[in-house]
Amino acid sequence: MSKIDQLIVNAIVVTMDEDYRILQDGAIAIKDDEIVAIGESDQITASYESDRVLDCAGQALIPGLINAHTHAPMTLLRGLNDDQRLDVWLLGYMMPVEREFVSPDFCNLGTLIACAEMIRGGITCFADMYYYEDSVAQATADAGMRAICGQTVLKFPSPDAESYEDSINSARSFIETWKDHDLVIPSIAPHSAYTTTEDILRECAEIALEFDVPLHIHIAETSQEQDQWRETHGMPVVPWLKKHGIFEAKTIAAHCVHVDEGEIHTMEHSRTGVSHNPSSNLKLASGFAPVQEMLSSGLNVGIGTDGPASNNDLDMFEEMRLASFVAKATTGDPTALPARTTLAMATIIGAKALHIDHLTGSIQVGKKADVVLVNLDALHVQPYFLRDPESIYSRLVYAAKSTDVTHVMVNGKWLMVDKKLETIDEAPLVRAAEEYARKIDAFLIEREGSVLSKLIAIGEATQEESYEVQIKVRLPDPTPVTLKLNSGILDIIRAAHYLEYDTYFSFSEPNQGRLRYREDEFVDQQGEVYNVRYRLTLTGPAAERAYPNFVLLSRSRFIAPATHSLRFYHEYFKPESETEITKDRLRWLVRYKGEEFFINIDRLIRPEIDGSFLEVKSRTWSRRDAERKSELISELLAELGITDPVPVEDEYPDLIAAM
Ligand SMILES: [Zn+2]
Repeated sequence: MSKIDQLIVNAIVVTMDEDYRILQDGAIAIKDDEIVAIGESDQITASYESDRVLDCAGQALIPGLINAHTHAPMTLLRGLNDDQRLDVWLLGYMMPVEREFVSPDFCNLGTLIACAEMIRGGITCFADMYYYEDSVAQATADAGMRAICGQTVLKFPSPDAESYEDSINSARSFIETWKDHDLVIPSIAPHSAYTTTEDILRECAEIALEFDVPLHIHIAETSQEQDQWRETHGMPVVPWLKKHGIFEAKTIAAHCVHVDEGEIHTMEHSRTGVSHNPSSNLKLASGFAPVQEMLSSGLNVGIGTDGPASNNDLDMFEEMRLASFVAKATTGDPTALPARTTLAMATIIGAKALHIDHLTGSIQVGKKADVVLVNLDALHVQPYFLRDPESIYSRLVYAAKSTDVTHVMVNGKWLMVDKKLETIDEAPLVRAAEEYARKIDAFLIEREGSVLSKLIAIGEATQEESYEVQIKVRLPDPTPVTLKLNSGILDIIRAAHYLEYDTYFSFSEPNQGRLRYREDEFVDQQGEVYNVRYRLTLTGPAAERAYPNFVLLSRSRFIAPATHSLRFYHEYFKPESETEITKDRLRWLVRYKGEEFFINIDRLIRPEIDGSFLEVKSRTWSRRDAERKSELISELLAELGITDPVPVEDEYPDLIAAM
């Protein structure tokens, strides 16, 4: 009789070992952090004794569930702004809020909340990717969970790094600090191909190899990513990543929604692990990962929740059920992803995908004691059939819920006993999360109140104010003016011709100004478009000042290249109304009496208006300069043969206000 630390007896032991052994009245013996024996209860109790014996009649003992991909601290951003498209959600809300609020304290608190939720749902191990990963790791260790913690690396500034060099350095020192920890395996997490560069990826792979730690990355989450790669690099994302050495590291690839057969083979060859995240893919409408193909080609595909802001919970029972059902529905094959395979994905295959199956993922002698008890007495998992012992898998995957988990052990230590958490006090965490929510509310309320601050929040550019003096005049026939312009009376610096497609956003508060999205098509002598430019301009509400002869001083608050689609800006700014104007523009930059002026002759195509409009304007920096230029504009108009200008504002007030 040997004395050991703990005995768990009279359970239905679902081992998830190579033979998928199930013990109907099973027991396990635990010494320190390890499983030292597995067998029938009477056998085990005959050979081992302990002061701590847990009788588990009516319960299933399963390996702890493995959440193969998450961003734990994002529990604090759960439900912040749902039902948006990925770009609006990520670039418009998540990233600006993260830039403002993510700190070591935020990550510590968010991770503790995530750990509490995960432990309650029978998760013992997770693969994380976030900022301040040191705080994530510390909170995880304090909670007693096992995790692969990935320090994020991006090509642009992030909440915890001014530059990518900073984030690579902090990833390196993070790995050095945590590399020998019992529960935390540090890793490096270049966010994705499209948010890093070849050099960054190569450097990350080298660090992962140097320390023999996993490399965690998002791959092919959306079809746009693949389209972009085919267009810019002439190949899909996976071969491109292979070319840059990523798969030489122990890679964990999140998503892989849009991968083809060749890419699946490439990943299989390099023993890359995949995390399939069904809730996140469904919620963000990313598509359906070819899970069946990946599994049958031998890829290790685990299951992940993804971050709690895109799911919105950390419930692996729900993920298992969805993974199976989505696979059946998308293949049209109800035999796809049977319950046993699905539970394997959430346990042993998940462990393989994370490259930690030597530690966890199954109930086997020599592995760490990461186990979970699921109560099978509840009404919603009844009845049970003895004819087929494997029906336990269907009860666990299709009928049981995360709330049926009663006990959770990680590394031989109980983290939850009879649904009571042993390492985390939940009440103060809920209060602290609420404090963050109030601060984030205040931040967003203020930001949403101003078009300008929304513009700055998405990092389009910094604020820049410019003033110009200008006049717009209707020209029933532009020919005389064009002839004069080309006759050499003015010093022409350059001339251009383009088609302008403008969309003006108006807001309910007129002092917000108007936001213009402009697509400029540059047209050559033959009338062919040779270049396209997209710009955003936020214009102040009204003229600052009027001069004689209808010359106005106006303010343009902000001009920047438009890097997103019109659809993005529409969904992000939610204007009260939109006006579309298309015009054919002839533009001259001229020098007149030592000053530079722009002269535009516009023919309106949409809405169609007879005649043309002449616009003369010049940038200005001071009141005195503005006054002088307003006088010069009057003189310039006279030179062009316009002696009695009628401002178009009088004729088409709405249209001109928009232009
Ligand atoms: Zn993710």
